[in-house]
Amino acid sequence: MAQKIGFIGLGIMGKPMARNLRKAGYAPTVYNRSRPAMEELKREGATLGSSAKDVAAASEVVITMLPNSPDVEAVVLGVNGVLEGAQPGTTVIDMSTISPLVSQTIYEEAKKKKVNTLDAPVSGGEKGAIEGTLSIMVGGDREVFEAVLPILQAMGKTITYMGAAGAGGFTKLANQVIVALNLTAIGEALTLGGKAGLDPERLIQALGGGMAGSRCLEMKGPQIIKGNFQPGFTIDLHHKDLGLIMEAARALQVPLPTTAVVQELFSALRVKGRGAWDHSAVITILEELAGVQVRTGS
Ligand code: NAD
Repeated sequence: MAQKIGFIGLGIMGKPMARNLRKAGYAPTVYNRSRPAMEELKREGATLGSSAKDVAAASEVVITMLPNSPDVEAVVLGVNGVLEGAQPGTTVIDMSTISPLVSQTIYEEAKKKKVNTLDAPVSGGEKGAIEGTLSIMVGGDREVFEAVLPILQAMGKTITYMGAAGAGGFTKLANQVIVALNLTAIGEALTLGGKAGLDPERLIQALGGGMAGSRCLEMKGPQIIKGNFQPGFTIDLHHKDLGLIMEAARALQVPLPTTAVVQELFSALRVKGRGAWDHSAVITILEELAGVQVRTGS
């Protein structure tokens, strides 16, 4: 019989991930802080939990997909949280992007109650979550990982065991360095090309076929030139990740000079009220610096 799964955090990512679990034959009990996402899944036949504790009590495996470290700490370690409801032997898979140092603390706290944890953040965006093609990077005990692998396979395509607790989180932070810098590079390149009078669509086509091509350019380029900044992945969340990256870099004594500059650009975007826009909107601040608008849309 399929393991009993609980799913907490039904946002842009969590909702489609929970749907894919249902499609794969699991019937997750779901819980979210705000009501509308729960009602939506209830209409599709999902069982609703009334708290994180309640969900954990009904589950052998609990998945969390929440915004940031304090949210995961509150939901897993806090009052009415997962550890209060979980039986020994339960596995908690946190798929949010949070501080790997916090993931290591949660691992230790959970072990005291004989609860297993994995940090298993994802890459691939909303599209990957909907299509079940996420890249999932996992830290924790290998045997725990192996026991839940079929569950992860219902949500992702590239699933990599990275090592001990925190290893999944560090991998995700490395991922986020590349994505933030790549989107900023695309923004600078399109702004330069735009001010030189190049056609943005042809520019993207030409760049995509050579060494400058990337998944970011492929996935975000057409949206950028239409001025479509519907998230996807928000400036606010990527700014959060840049903070986690710089915190980890300081702890490990790794200077990340270019990431530091990009973090400031993301701060500026938030000051301008664009925190809820897609992270590809980093181009807007570069356009403003250059006094040009490359986008054909608003
Ligand atoms: P989101 O803000 O859309 O969803 C988070 C959900 O968690 C919301 O529905 C919110 O109501 C719920 N929530 C918050 N606190 C809660 C609590 N205490 N109890 C229960 N529910 C609570 O965020 P998202 O875009 O789905 O991202 C979730 C995580 O995945 C983040 O860590 C993000 O960095 C990461 N991520 C996002 C993307 C993306 O493209 N959106 C891609 C990869 C990774």
